[in-house]
Amino acid sequence: MNVLGIESSCDETGVALVQLSPDGGVPRLRAHALHSQIEMHRAYGGVVPELASRDHIRRVLPLARQVLTEAGSTLDDVDIVAYTRGPGLAGALLVGAGVACALAAALGKPTLGIHHLEGHLLSPFLSDDPPEFPFVALLVSGGHTQLMRVQGVGDYELLGETIDDAAGEAFDKSAKLLGLGYPGGPALSRLAEFGDPEAFALPRPLLHSGNLDFSFAGLKTAVMTQLRKLGPEVCEQPKADLAASTQAAIVDVLSAKSMKALKQTGLKRLVVAGGVGANRALRANLNSLCRRAGVRVHYPELHLCSDNGAMIALAGAMRLQSGRASAEHDYAFDVKPRWPLAEV
Ligand code: ATP
Ligand code: MG
Ligand code: FE
Repeated sequence: MNVLGIESSCDETGVALVQLSPDGGVPRLRAHALHSQIEMHRAYGGVVPELASRDHIRRVLPLARQVLTEAGSTLDDVDIVAYTRGPGLAGALLVGAGVACALAAALGKPTLGIHHLEGHLLSPFLSDDPPEFPFVALLVSGGHTQLMRVQGVGDYELLGETIDDAAGEAFDKSAKLLGLGYPGGPALSRLAEFGDPEAFALPRPLLHSGNLDFSFAGLKTAVMTQLRKLGPEVCEQPKADLAASTQAAIVDVLSAKSMKALKQTGLKRLVVAGGVGANRALRANLNSLCRRAGVRVHYPELHLCSDNGAMIALAGAMRLQSGRASAEHDYAFDVKPRWPLAEV
């Protein structure tokens, strides 16, 4: 059985074909294709929702054709069409949902609306070292920072989350202040390689708060204050030092809270997912903390950390396999721009 997955929640159009395993094992990724709109939005310093929707319309069918060709399949091989139902930009979501439901209606096949964060959360199952349930999940993306207790597919308990900015947002906003463009997370982390993470004492908000919540909004203010002190013509080295110190502050808090969640739940497995999961400093720090604590840690493959269609097709396949979803033949669709993961 083959699941076609369509992702269009923000500024990436992704399509993928995933095949359920006949023996109940992890589904197999047959092909996936992705178009990032980053270049288009760069001039505006952020995602322009209307432009995003229009571009999804242009990209989604050519990407679907590409995926089927690469998989050596045709539309006749598609058994179910899964799409991102939310959360995300309403207009962008509507494109993926509309195309998915139209395609399914034409084929007479059912559809399945998927939660975008469930896609991120399950994406490490496509890696060479897939996790096993149960585990603690650290979900770190552009819009979310959450710790979840994951018992199985569809069984998600929120342990803590950010009370303001997401970790990816903290990376992006600090990068913008440092003049590193958009989206700044990857650029900031590259510059940080040349800097001293202890050069600037930046705050670690809520580090000792006793709960598993995060707060990153204060960090950009602290970065701004340091930049003001450095003056208008800041040289390369202090800039790299400030990038390294910012990254260290974010990594410290994410790591400490993850370890706390593991301790609190007694679980010995950590799954990291979302765009910030690609960050090398975060991976290095978590690897060493987890080794010491006897915890196994799993990540998505680097190219599947940010948004993609593979994770949506996979989530659809895993939901079907676990009996957690009944695919629908009703082609009326609605999207959920705001949608807490614990509600799925
Ligand atoms: P959400 O999934 O919450 O709706 P999103 O889909 O926009 O948000 P993702 O695509 O998962 O988020 O991740 C994008 C974020 O990851 C951006 O904020 C980006 O800067 C950040 N990011 C990507 N690579 C890195 C990296 N190497 N280091 C730090 N941050 C990174
Ligand atoms: Mg994106
Ligand atoms: Fe995402």
